[in-house]
Amino acid sequence: MSFEGGEGAGKSTQIRLLADSLREKGHTVITTREPGGSAGAEALRHVLLSGAAEPFGVRMEALLFAAARADHLDCVIRPALARGEIVLCDRFVDSSRVYQGVTGNIEPPLMEALERVSIGKTMPDITLVLDLAAEVGLQRARRRAGALSEATAPDRFEKEKLEVHEKRRQGFLDIANREPERCRVVDASFDVDHIARDILFEVTHALAR
Ligand code: C5P
Repeated sequence: MSFEGGEGAGKSTQIRLLADSLREKGHTVITTREPGGSAGAEALRHVLLSGAAEPFGVRMEALLFAAARADHLDCVIRPALARGEIVLCDRFVDSSRVYQGVTGNIEPPLMEALERVSIGKTMPDITLVLDLAAEVGLQRARRRAGALSEATAPDRFEKEKLEVHEKRRQGFLDIANREPERCRVVDASFDVDHIARDILFEVTHALAR
């Protein structure tokens, strides 16, 4: 399962709550995130989200996100799935489609090639798209950064203009429209418990299919 959405949509909180609920029902669950999730991919995350990546061109960046994803799949996700575990992943391929494809202006043939190479046929069974007005999400992300340590301070992607964030929101909704079997859009403007209930409802139905 993957969780997608813009900044401040509350993915990490909801992943934690869903993991707790699924474990209470007896499932074995691992939670992981992108970029990162494996030792190699976490090293790339550090590069990609820090100032070190400023000189990178968009194509280089897209290749690195894809490389991180391939490592994450090989080292963490596929082994967990093979053990019969449920994997909850904070961002996955849809983030690349949106961040590098829609707003990064990477040409579709390169995006498709990178997707083929990095994930092959391994797609999430369910993708929860946490949908929230960009302005609200950014306010939440800023508050979080102010309240917590420097480790959660806005990264370079979070500093972009509001219109870019809105374009990404639309990008995620477009994917959900194109792939309704896999994607569920969840209104992330409600309070944490309300969103968690909506997600659990969607996931319980999907698991029973
Ligand atoms: O989910 P989180 O906010 O921790 O993601 C880290 C950052 O990486 C985000 O700011 C997001 O903008 C960026 N990102 C990206 N392309 C991806 C995945 C994440 O630009 N494919």
